[in-house]
Amino acid sequence: ELVDATVQFTHQLMKKGVSQATLQVAVRCRPLNDFEKSRGYVSITRLVDDKVVIVLDPEHLKEQRETNLDVLKRSKEKQYVFDRALGENATNAMLYNVTVAPLVHGVLRGLNATVFAYGATGSGKTHTMVGDDQDPGLMVLSLRDIFEHISREQEKQFIVECSYMEVYNELLYDLLENSEKPLELREDPKQGAVVVGLKRILVPSADHIFALLREGNKRRKTESTDANATSSRSHAVLEILCTRSDKNCYAKQVYQGKLALVDLAGAERAHETNNAGRQLRDGANINKSLLALANCINALGKRKKKEFVFVPFRNSKLTRLLKDGLCGNSRTIMVATVSACNQQYHHTVNTLKYANRAKEIKTHVRRNQGTVDTHIKEYQKMIDNLQQEVRTL
Ligand code: ADP
Ligand code: MG
Repeated sequence: ELVDATVQFTHQLMKKGVSQATLQVAVRCRPLNDFEKSRGYVSITRLVDDKVVIVLDPEHLKEQRETNLDVLKRSKEKQYVFDRALGENATNAMLYNVTVAPLVHGVLRGLNATVFAYGATGSGKTHTMVGDDQDPGLMVLSLRDIFEHISREQEKQFIVECSYMEVYNELLYDLLENSEKPLELREDPKQGAVVVGLKRILVPSADHIFALLREGNKRRKTESTDANATSSRSHAVLEILCTRSDKNCYAKQVYQGKLALVDLAGAERAHETNNAGRQLRDGANINKSLLALANCINALGKRKKKEFVFVPFRNSKLTRLLKDGLCGNSRTIMVATVSACNQQYHHTVNTLKYANRAKEIKTHVRRNQGTVDTHIKEYQKMIDNLQQEVRTL
């Protein structure tokens, strides 16, 4: 009965309870890897506190290597303020606790949330979102936390479902299905962007998720480029749908919250990768999606209260998918990933500039609520009508 009700769930918008949220931006610096250390490269990012990061200019690095933070703060170094700044020793769990964790409670009460990792190839996006056995990423940590919360809710009943897809070459693929066929993206007036035929699986417990993600990630299209040995050429989107209802009650209130976690492809510009043939097309398309995302973030960042600004969401698959997360019904977190390595200076500065603009974005959050009761009433009406027809026959 409950499953039927959730399948039939229609989004009834609450007139009351719409609140404004600002896009939260967290920056995360990844440490130098062994190869970078062996080449004598150095770290050029410094945290001032848990919100402020400084990037040293490698050109002036020699003179500044010795100076302390107080001196740097007063100098002309590039300084950026975010909602959170995490350093080279931060774990995924530490990042999770200060970003996604505060949103889980809301997701279980019908609020939407979106988290995306943005940064150059090799800056740590996949490490942050997916992670590995030793240091599981935000996708795994979120699901574990969701089930942890659910185990403490005695009065309520929950259904957790997942879908996992990738945007590659402006085409959508199901990462939970062994199929090469791209899926269609349709616009639904009530639900927004809907991916037709995308597999949605029931997740009985958090234990299932790691195997599931690993299986999905194996299907991701990875290609070697000059920018990085194994650069992800695709955007991956995990959606966790949580449906909550009362346990022992006839007129059930149903709340449906969605947590979307997005691992974006490399943000470096096309001319910086030295590709040819197929990969050139991939590069161009990645930029089409990321360029569209940049344009949307620019437009949204500039928007003043109640002012109308054209936001080019329709320009790419990615922005159509993320539309709700960027300005609609969602609390949104952007994790900007940067490398601390001096070789990556330009990428780091570009990413931080971009993330800085995203801080201005506002979204409008409301609970997705419905009742099983309303559906019963609708069905009763249908039955009455049919009975009426039978009687007149
Ligand atoms: P991206 O997805 O942005 O292209 P990855 O997440 O694949 O980059 O990271 C590139 C490499 O750096 C991987 O080997 C990864 O394990 C490592 N790495 C990334 N971020 C960190 C971090 N914060 N701490 C330690 N290693 C990291
Ligand atoms: Mg990656």
